[in-house]
Amino acid sequence: MPAITLRNITKRFRKVVALKNVSFDVKEGEFFTIVGPTNAGKTTTLRVVAGLEKPNEGEVIFDGQPMNRVPPNLRDVALMFQNLALYPHRSGFDNIAFPLRVKKLAPDEVQRRVREVAGFLKITHLLERLPGTYSGGERQRLAFARTMVRDPALYMLDEPLANLDALIRLQMRVELRRIHQELGKTMIYVTHDQVEAMSMSNRIAVLHQGVIQQIGSPDDIYMCPANQFVAGFFGAPPMNFIPTQIERSVGYAVLKWGEYSVIGSSLIKKVKRRAASRGFILGIRPEDISILPDNGLNDSLRGRVVSLEQLGLKTIIDVELGSAVVRIAVPATFDYKVRDRCRITMKVERGHLFDPETGANLTIA
Ligand code: ADP
Ligand code: MG
Repeated sequence: MPAITLRNITKRFRKVVALKNVSFDVKEGEFFTIVGPTNAGKTTTLRVVAGLEKPNEGEVIFDGQPMNRVPPNLRDVALMFQNLALYPHRSGFDNIAFPLRVKKLAPDEVQRRVREVAGFLKITHLLERLPGTYSGGERQRLAFARTMVRDPALYMLDEPLANLDALIRLQMRVELRRIHQELGKTMIYVTHDQVEAMSMSNRIAVLHQGVIQQIGSPDDIYMCPANQFVAGFFGAPPMNFIPTQIERSVGYAVLKWGEYSVIGSSLIKKVKRRAASRGFILGIRPEDISILPDNGLNDSLRGRVVSLEQLGLKTIIDVELGSAVVRIAVPATFDYKVRDRCRITMKVERGHLFDPETGANLTIA
């Protein structure tokens, strides 16, 4: 039985439809991530699960029990917000102890539990200090400790790392994975960051404009994106999209744009449904495109470098191919300059074809 089920949830705020028919299951002990851009409806989803918002339609179910009529304080969930809402004038200890004192636990029990979670989160040495004297990462741990000390059945974290600088964010990503593994509790994690979603989750739900676009493992989502939105949301640089027409010859078919074409027979064979119109959007990931200096080979595409970005480990190169521009990442190189001619080869068979009208991926089952 899933730990949490949302069934056909719709939530409106006056004219804004924040969630449209949202359904998903979260399994017991799972690290489940909801990812999407700002205003996608992520926070609203968590608030509906916590009981802080009433859905207009649909059901929230915990362990098979309908929750719609159960008030937030009886749901046994912890929701940790992006702004951590720590008490600035109370010590770390008192911040963590607060939910236990509200429950009127005996002082020595409060001591024991605060020390236990502080130890687990490696902030014991900070307990006597005010949160204002903590670093960003330490404040994050303190907020997590205050959540953890209540021992909720479900943790929901709303963009907890968004305000941290890059290095701390990396450390906290690893730390949250450890916490999840050691606690074994169900977690619903919200982020707008595709890298966080990919690196931390058992499964991901991609939310956009209040609609679930796809639910799957990081691998599913990356390798078999359901539509153009999902395809373009993951990866850095993201998937390239080229509007193409199909031209068939005896024995093979090409995908054509302007003067350019690639052989697309094996990819076109994967098309399960016809596109609404005759063209296709060819989607191809940067790692499936390679660049060579212009050497006159005729099975490659003639390109021109339009911009370069040196990132140290890798170089991002934008290459114009007629009416299209593709963005690729190569190991650090200084072999190319803007306006250089170059040659491009694509592993077209590893690409995807999208319906130009609906954005649906036509090459997955
Ligand atoms: P996210 O967390 O993905 O950025 P939210 O769930 O906060 O998105 O918001 C989804 C949509 O619902 C947005 O258009 C937002 O403006 C709207 N919204 C959220 N809460 C309220 C509210 N209390 N009143 C009116 N509109 C709201
Ligand atoms: Mg939000």
